[in-house]
Amino acid sequence: MTVTVERAATAEEAAAAMARGAQVVGGGTIVMRRVNAGDQRLGRLVVLADPALRRIGAGSEGVSLGALVTMSEVARAREADFLAPVARQVGGPAIRNMATVGGNLFARRTYGDFAVALLALGARVILAREGAREIGEFLRGRERSGLVLAVEVPRPREARAFGFLKVTRVHPAAAAVLSVAAHLPREGGRIRGARIAFGGMGPQPLRAPGAERALEGQPLDAGAIGRAATGCTEGLEPPTDALASAWYRREVAGVHLRRLLEGMV
Ligand SMILES: Cc1cc2nc3c(=O)[nH]c(=O)nc-3n(C[C@H](O)[C@H](O)[C@H](O)COP(=O)(O)OP(=O)(O)OC[C@H]3O[C@@H](n4cnc5c(N)ncnc54)[C@H](O)[C@@H]3O)c2cc1C
Repeated sequence: MTVTVERAATAEEAAAAMARGAQVVGGGTIVMRRVNAGDQRLGRLVVLADPALRRIGAGSEGVSLGALVTMSEVARAREADFLAPVARQVGGPAIRNMATVGGNLFARRTYGDFAVALLALGARVILAREGAREIGEFLRGRERSGLVLAVEVPRPREARAFGFLKVTRVHPAAAAVLSVAAHLPREGGRIRGARIAFGGMGPQPLRAPGAERALEGQPLDAGAIGRAATGCTEGLEPPTDALASAWYRREVAGVHLRRLLEGMV
């Protein structure tokens, strides 16, 4: 099949092309690999070229990242300093210079590290046609979603309220066996509104309700951390793939969650 490539100067043009069956290209680190591999399902590609999608905006509550903002730009942006450690763990430097925030929301397991962090932080995804969606809802239906314009990410009230850990087998920039992010706002020393998200533990980034329940209303102490680690795979169906078996992922998820939480005390 011949692949045609067009350029959309505005988000509206891109959304219209998508509605007609075209696939958008952000940084192309995933799409262009499929093109090079001769993927027959790709017919029409639309390269996003709207400068408005490259904006990083700071508000009192958090940061807005346009869909075309790259991981390198996130890593450098003062407004997004709390996300820099996550962005720096996506691929190597060449990938980070191209990989976009919008594309990461669609990356299949075991990629999608940035989306895991956004899920823990309770980001909102802004879509061209459908408006704003809570990120968990967006991720559950992402295959059917339209053009992403931006994500709005609440800033953690204190630095230690947010943490991210990526687990790889050999190289730190390689695909993750799993990744885990935690957002644990505290009031009067107790956790209020715990959010724990895993990557690599299901078809898309998922929250860990067992761990969240164990932490909610508790001080972040050894007891709460232990209970969260023990219950963190509740409701999750990790896959078996070339990186790890489902059994292995179940066994180590709690170990890595414990490590992450101990660093947030
Ligand atoms: C060598 C290598 C290493 C990698 N390492 C990592 C890693 O460590 N961690 C990680 O998370 N990922 C990794 N990736 C995957 C990928 O680079 C990132 O997930 C990246 O953020 C994807 O963004 P992109 O802009 O390149 O996506 P693209 O390839 O442009 O698009 C990916 C998908 O998203 C869709 N899409 C893109 N933008 C939009 C939008 N605005 N609205 C709607 N749909 C859109 C595309 O149509 C496509 O289906 C790696 C990839 C490679 C090749």
